[in-house]
Amino acid sequence: MTELPARPPFALRARLLSPLADGGWLDEPDGVVEVDVGGRITFAGPASESSSTASAVDLRPLVLLPGLIDLHAHLPQLPNAGLGSGLDLLTWLDRYIFPLERSYDRAVAERQAPAAFRAFAAAGTTTVVAYAALWPDSTDAAFEAAEAHGIRAVIGKVMMDRLTYDAAIRETDILETSLRQSDELASRWHGRDDGRLSYAFTPRFAVSCSAEMLRESASLAARHGAYWQTHLSEDAGEIEEVLRLFPGSTDYLDVYERAGGLGARTILAHAIHLSDDEVRRLVASGSHVAHCPASNLFLSSGMMPLGRYRDAGMSVGLGSDVAAGPEVSIFSVMRAGAVTQRVLELTGRADAGRALRPLDWLRLATLGGAAALGQESIGSIEVGREADVIAVDPRFTTPLPEDDPPTVAEDLASRLIFRPHPNMVRGAWVRGRLLAGPPGVDAIG
Ligand SMILES: [Zn+2]
Repeated sequence: MTELPARPPFALRARLLSPLADGGWLDEPDGVVEVDVGGRITFAGPASESSSTASAVDLRPLVLLPGLIDLHAHLPQLPNAGLGSGLDLLTWLDRYIFPLERSYDRAVAERQAPAAFRAFAAAGTTTVVAYAALWPDSTDAAFEAAEAHGIRAVIGKVMMDRLTYDAAIRETDILETSLRQSDELASRWHGRDDGRLSYAFTPRFAVSCSAEMLRESASLAARHGAYWQTHLSEDAGEIEEVLRLFPGSTDYLDVYERAGGLGARTILAHAIHLSDDEVRRLVASGSHVAHCPASNLFLSSGMMPLGRYRDAGMSVGLGSDVAAGPEVSIFSVMRAGAVTQRVLELTGRADAGRALRPLDWLRLATLGGAAALGQESIGSIEVGREADVIAVDPRFTTPLPEDDPPTVAEDLASRLIFRPHPNMVRGAWVRGRLLAGPPGVDAIG
């Protein structure tokens, strides 16, 4: 029986697999990670070279990976995950999502958000970027739950000043009220706990926001140094509607460009159907994209030509987009992304681009997400970074119980991506603090 360390300092002995910031990989069959009292990594390398090997908690044959980063999720939507596959986006929102978000009041958030964060941690996600609902008090409750749980989180109150599901508000008050409430939430939560919690101004998307809402929210985000997140170019019906609502705009991206929404602190979810010119301008703006392939397949939204985007230099991380994505697991998202690329190849799409290898997906889900957030202290197991790490048992992914997990890194990553098991994540830490959710290694003996 092995007990996982609950707080730093500690040392863990395990197989180590992590992308490195210089483009290489840490691939150590028998390694040790040392974490200091502040939760920073002070050593990551072979057990034979660590001074803490004798005292390290021995997790072998588990694999230590950087914690996964989910760049796009919707907290109130979790209860309806897996429902409504194949509906078009706007119908799905009306039928399955807006009723849930409308009922996401403080009491519901207090009940559901702690369970949601445990579910993210159990899936190996140590950083989540999430939309709450329209209500400031339940957004507040979601932040409180994240603060207590220990997960790293970026959260924002959804802003909508048209097509709103707030039946009580007067049309003339919506814009001002939403801006004031978001401003107050950002003042309270952005940067809390030494930057573990951040605020994202969250205009839902151009269909449900006026030009003023987009512009004013972007200007508030800049004033706070906070994030600005929204959806872009997810589905054909949505794109058509945006061009109808913003007749002066040349394309969908132009709506956010004119609002001053693009930049290094901006995360755009989906971005599937972009023209070459939109890709070029998005990259030039320094904005980041949350690629949500499981969601895109579930709602038949489309298939992102990720290879072409990466060739153009786009900053891309991964998002579950629960509940349009059926699972919180970023491992499942990687699999959906890989399947999407296979289909692009099979159907001869000219812009399929170079397909990612399993290790490329792992890098996207960790360092890719960290780069998108501008959080260079996370995303890899390297000296000086914060110990946001997960322990995964690769034995859960073998086809037959007596098989040994692969020794080659690419094969190991392939198993984690193509045969993820709901119980394979045994432990998750943020800054060296153990998160509730994963079962812990002692549960398997
Ligand atoms: Zn979404």
